Amino acid sequence: DLKVVLITGCSSGIGLSLAVHLASDPSKTYKVYASMRNMDKKQRLLECVSGHHKDTLVILQMDVTDQQSIHRAKDSITEGRVDILVCNAGIGLMGPLEAQSEDVMRGILEVNLLGTIRTIQTFLPDMKRRKSGRLLVTGSMGGLHGLPFNELYCASKFAVEGVCESLAILLQHFSIHVSLIECGPVNTDFLVNLQRVEPRDSSLVEVDDHTLHLYEMYLQHCSSVFQNAAQDTEDIVQVYLEAIQSPRPFLRYYTNHGLLPISTPDGSQYITAMSKIIFSSTIPKVRF
Ligand code: NAD
Repeated sequence: DLKVVLITGCSSGIGLSLAVHLASDPSKTYKVYASMRNMDKKQRLLECVSGHHKDTLVILQMDVTDQQSIHRAKDSITEGRVDILVCNAGIGLMGPLEAQSEDVMRGILEVNLLGTIRTIQTFLPDMKRRKSGRLLVTGSMGGLHGLPFNELYCASKFAVEGVCESLAILLQHFSIHVSLIECGPVNTDFLVNLQRVEPRDSSLVEVDDHTLHLYEMYLQHCSSVFQNAAQDTEDIVQVYLEAIQSPRPFLRYYTNHGLLPISTPDGSQYITAMSKIIFSSTIPKVRF
């Protein structure tokens, strides 16, 4: 059985690795439609697949913020169906909440939340008609617990959790499986691509010194976490495969079991623990 897969955000990172892995499957089980917003970036993906992908990989233009481009991508799928839809496109955003502009706030929700919803909306009716299909979504630990200076990113990813969990209840009745692949830090272009308020940015003039000091500490914490604990995209692909190959996949898969969220009903344990982890190191207080 040929499985038709459509993946969003394949110009780099997790999307690229997953597309390469599935398209290179020796048994040619998958026909991969690897979509990306900017087709000028397709070279990297092409360089990663060896010569034998002519019949297993098609690169499509698709911007998850542009409904027309999603429809165009759907119309170019020659099999006329998608068996496995992977909503992976996403962007990061860091900075003190009070420094985020209206445009930046709308931008992240537009990609991470509405982009995911739009993509699902477009492919869901066919899956329901066929009473089969899989929705896989690249989730984040930032969608399961809060992180300082990531309020909007976390809001977007928490919201995606709500969409997926809600759909999972309904879609059982259509034999459609929904799975979130919850990632901690992964070595991708995520940190390069993320929008970050830089410590000397003019939007920080209204932000108090204490917050700026804590932001500096957070940025240091973040870069050390990425240096020391980030997973490779190949590790994430293995978790994706587990979900894809399972006859009854779970709603949530965790790529890094060392990072399972600490939860208590009143939230206090998590807040204390995370604050200690991020802000316990003593760096000299700098003036901005
Ligand atoms: P990445 O920046 O390498 O890849 C993200 C991809 O999404 C890029 O190819 C980018 O071009 C694409 N994209 C952005 N806006 C788009 C749009 N409007 N339409 C279509 N594509 C768009 O980073 P990544 O780590 O591979 O990110 C993939 C997913 O993993 C994201 O949803 C991200 O939130 C999630 N994630 C990443 C990490 C991490 O540490 N890298 C951790 C948790 C979750």
